[in-house]
Amino acid sequence: MSPVDSGTRPRPHAGVLAIDPYIPGKSSAPGLAKIHKLSSNETPLGASPHAKAAYRDVGDSLELYPDGAATDLREAIGARFGLNPARIVCGAGSDEIIALLTKAYIGPGDEGIFTTHGFLVYRIAILAAGGTPVIAHEKNFTADVDEILAEVTPKTKIVFVANPNNPTGTYLPFGEIKRLAMSLPRHVLLVLDAAYAEYVTRNDYSPGLELALTADNVVMTRTFSKIYGLAALRLGWCYAPAHVCDAINRIRGPFNVSSAAIAAGIAALDDIEHVDRSIAHNETWLNWLMTEIDHLGLPVTQSVGNFVLIHFRDPDEARAADAFLSSRGLILRAVGAYGLPQCLRLTVGSEEANRALVGALAEFLKSGGDARG
Ligand SMILES: *Cc1c(COP(=O)(O)O)cnc(C)c1O
Repeated sequence: MSPVDSGTRPRPHAGVLAIDPYIPGKSSAPGLAKIHKLSSNETPLGASPHAKAAYRDVGDSLELYPDGAATDLREAIGARFGLNPARIVCGAGSDEIIALLTKAYIGPGDEGIFTTHGFLVYRIAILAAGGTPVIAHEKNFTADVDEILAEVTPKTKIVFVANPNNPTGTYLPFGEIKRLAMSLPRHVLLVLDAAYAEYVTRNDYSPGLELALTADNVVMTRTFSKIYGLAALRLGWCYAPAHVCDAINRIRGPFNVSSAAIAAGIAALDDIEHVDRSIAHNETWLNWLMTEIDHLGLPVTQSVGNFVLIHFRDPDEARAADAFLSSRGLILRAVGAYGLPQCLRLTVGSEEANRALVGALAEFLKSGGDARG
């Protein structure tokens, strides 16, 4: 009898047991001293030096609880983006915000929608809340508004759209997001996950703030984990209608965001130059990587994020490439759990890492594309 089958001990509800645990990107290659971790969409430029200094300063007062309302941070975010701080909620990563929204709006029997290759955290959050995950088909590795709308039922409570999406890197133009928001029933919460918003340089893109400002059922989530380089501290936030903020403020931990995260987040927001440098680096190397990899004969999905989805012939070739690259210290993300076993996701790295990656991929393909290890 498996440990969770026993009738003689506490048992989690069925939704919990239906969750495949989230497996993060690998972070090491055994036996290699130098590696390039290109598996978790972390920034190669690191955090702002000001954020690091602010983080260190908190070390002198670790006995104090943080401000549970994260007031200074919400005001800093509000000032930076022109938002009302009262409608911002901060969390331990945007993952926590996603979990809180789901817990607040989905119960047993309710449905939450996301798309075929959508971010896996949505599925986990919906199941954890006892709800039913519903998958809307994508077209060409991109979310499709009509397919999402076709899945809406009276039981639908939340629709999650990562824009741009991880791991595909594709996005929906604001016109489509607006059409989705306008077409959804008013009781359905639309969560626009804009974790990579800063990286997107397209004119027809918007993180969705306009909608979160005006609609009664739209939330925009953001993170400090990606362009701000604070993934270790776990910090994210959302901009939401007042009634949604009220709901998730009731259920979040009273001190869910640490003092270190608050201090570093405020300093990171202030360092606009660092963000601009990161955008410029990404723009250059994202395009370079997509072009070079395509020239090698491997199709890539056009990405607007800080990562690229590389398509191999089949899952075997993707696995062989993963092993080959790992043996050279280049760690990519296998995305079989996203229904993409024939692909690997590559994060835009430093110049050195990017050049090493393209060189190693070329070598792999020259060796026949099935070199083992
Ligand atoms: C990385 C990522 C996040 C951010 O998660 P955090 O919990 O803030 O680190 C959110 N959504 C998507 C789609 C992501 O890829």
